[in-house]
Amino acid sequence: MARRALAEKIEGRGEDMERPEAAYPPHGPARAFGQAGRRLLDLVYPPVCPLTGEAVTSHGAFSAAAWARAEMIAPPWCDACGLPFALTDPAAPLCMACAATTGFPGRLTGKGRLDRLRCALRYDEESAPLILALKYGDRHDGVPALARLLARCGEELLTTGVTLVPVPLHRRRLAARRYNQAALLTGALSKLTGLPHDARLLARLKATPKQKGLSPAARRRNVAGAFAARRGAEAGRFVLVDDVLTSGATLLSCARALRRAGAAEVTALTLARVVRG
Ligand SMILES: [Zn+2]
Repeated sequence: MARRALAEKIEGRGEDMERPEAAYPPHGPARAFGQAGRRLLDLVYPPVCPLTGEAVTSHGAFSAAAWARAEMIAPPWCDACGLPFALTDPAAPLCMACAATTGFPGRLTGKGRLDRLRCALRYDEESAPLILALKYGDRHDGVPALARLLARCGEELLTTGVTLVPVPLHRRRLAARRYNQAALLTGALSKLTGLPHDARLLARLKATPKQKGLSPAARRRNVAGAFAARRGAEAGRFVLVDDVLTSGATLLSCARALRRAGAAEVTALTLARVVRG
């Protein structure tokens, strides 16, 4: 599908997508002012794309040019880990890592790991600005649009009975950054889908050094035992939410913490994923 057409679907202009106003309730000043106030707000502050600054149809929408930069991850993909791959046998819809019965380097799914994983965008220099604007740029007006992207990509995971859980920041990093981008996405996704979210279920116990620049093995050591689940995970089904998946070490460490606390199912949904090769 042409990227432009896909972008329009996600923006809510496509025929199989609800209008964004209906799918995502107004927030911030728009909620305070109601619909008439929203129109007034649009006159005073015309909606612009958080990334490109171009005029867009509603507040929080990204422009087609912004979406065109990002490469969506679309089926065919591995049924377990969501990695895009050329599916030759529909009876065996698993990538090599997920199909391996013994430990495969970098394996993300299976016993004691994630039950399933979906990621919406390929993380590369084209899509990075979308993510970095959310992570470091204090640009939160794009969060509802990014949550719609997560909702589409994670359709198979977002089923009745699951609770959405953001990957937590350590309290010191949260204090420095003032917000947790994963929790922002989770909150918006919860509003969009009606599924409950719990930003307090997981706690980050260790203020681990940044993962950037570390080898996969060093990343795993870095976050081993870094998370713990509070009471309330027993027999629960959870969808972990994060912004970017690089090696998956952080998500696996979170999944282990939830399973130690008795979780019955742990899947994960991220906005972007580093896809090598
Ligand atoms: Zn896989």
